[in-house]
Amino acid sequence: MLRASHLLRASFRPLARGAATHALRRGAPLVRNLKAGIPSSSRYLATVAPAAPEEQKQETHLPIVSSDASQVAVGWDPRTWSRFHNIWLRDHCRCPKCFHSITKQRLLNTFEIPKDIAPLHVSPKPDGLQVVWSSSDSHTSLYPWEWLKQNSYDPPLARQGEISDKVLWGSKIAQAPPTVAYDEVMQGDAGLFKWLSNVDRFGFSFITGVPPTPEATEELSEKIGFIRETHYGKFWDFTSDLAKGDTAYTTLALGAHTDNTYFTDPCGLQLFHLLSHTGGTGGTTLLVDGFYVASILKGLNPSAYNILSKVPVPAHAAGEPTSLYRPNPPAGFSTLNHDRWSNELMQVRWNNDDRSVMSHLAPTEVEEWYEAIRLWNKCLKSADSEYWVQLQPGTAVVVDNHRVLHGRSAFDGKRRMCGAYIGVDEYRSKLAVLSETFSPDSVLRSTATLPETVVNGRNIWNVAL
Ligand SMILES: [Zn+2]
Repeated sequence: MLRASHLLRASFRPLARGAATHALRRGAPLVRNLKAGIPSSSRYLATVAPAAPEEQKQETHLPIVSSDASQVAVGWDPRTWSRFHNIWLRDHCRCPKCFHSITKQRLLNTFEIPKDIAPLHVSPKPDGLQVVWSSSDSHTSLYPWEWLKQNSYDPPLARQGEISDKVLWGSKIAQAPPTVAYDEVMQGDAGLFKWLSNVDRFGFSFITGVPPTPEATEELSEKIGFIRETHYGKFWDFTSDLAKGDTAYTTLALGAHTDNTYFTDPCGLQLFHLLSHTGGTGGTTLLVDGFYVASILKGLNPSAYNILSKVPVPAHAAGEPTSLYRPNPPAGFSTLNHDRWSNELMQVRWNNDDRSVMSHLAPTEVEEWYEAIRLWNKCLKSADSEYWVQLQPGTAVVVDNHRVLHGRSAFDGKRRMCGAYIGVDEYRSKLAVLSETFSPDSVLRSTATLPETVVNGRNIWNVAL
């Protein structure tokens, strides 16, 4: 439960039940003053109705709420307010009439909400903001406090406080690479959560003690989700015999790259497991944290970083006569792709070998783009970035193909490798499901005991919904 401790100390109390609607004029002074930093306490106290000491004691912990013709304001403390539009609140009602608690789908017809919908009453309840709407049926909505705070968009409170727990790494990761035991993963969800949390934080994880067979490796892959079938097959088990028209099926060295730059949607995870290597040496695995290298590049040369974030790079997979892959749109995607909302780096796409003709560059961009990839390549290949590891039968590795680049040194002899692609959505979905149990966020924790909230094993206030 959120506590507005400032309010408590200042002996403010929220608007009393029944007398709750504080009809602010549009852009009324209360909100403006609070936005400026210091609340106009006299205005506040003027709205407060006398209350019994017991009620006062209970309610002083609750946020202050008020409403006007277009918005509801929630005061978390005297300096932190969130404003929610009436139409937004009405649209997000999660009562059983408005939201199907089992299917988690909207039942409410958004387009029947009157444009001028407004609350009749707003009141702070221990469980959340209660809004009684001015509609003929006096429809009542309750929005849990923590859900409102996490979804606050004016201002966006949650994103301000969000701290990524991603760990960017260079070659020193060799000292303690993220690892889980196969038995742990296969025994239950706690082990699987540990594995996927490793991938989420580091972009890769080893799995030790895997039986060196394709069957066991396939079963391990399927713990995460559906294996993604591609022109290479579903679960692959291959040697360096050029069975597929791709350099992966040769003994050549492969520089650090991500897979599937030629797909619109490159695979999310790639799992691989060296089953045997006989009659030769080499074939050391290379892993490079693309997010780490991007952060180095950004520091060294922000304009190069910007070019790689902007210029689309076309790619193709054309080594098989029966398929000809290229991304849609054909100009491709940039090397560094960001969340358009938070501007956070989301995806690295880089395979210089699969790159197609660069015909989408402005004439003035050509030389600066080549300079930018030269610097990117230099950072990728720096000894500080490269993590080289000799895989052994029994140790599989799963790599986040949207973040970590992989490669290998040349080898001789015969290597048998197996593995699978898993879509990014399958991986994210599994991690999200496991997080509900093993790492519930503040909304799940604070709403779990509300009535009719956890239905069919899922909380209706899960922030993913
Ligand atoms: Zn409703």
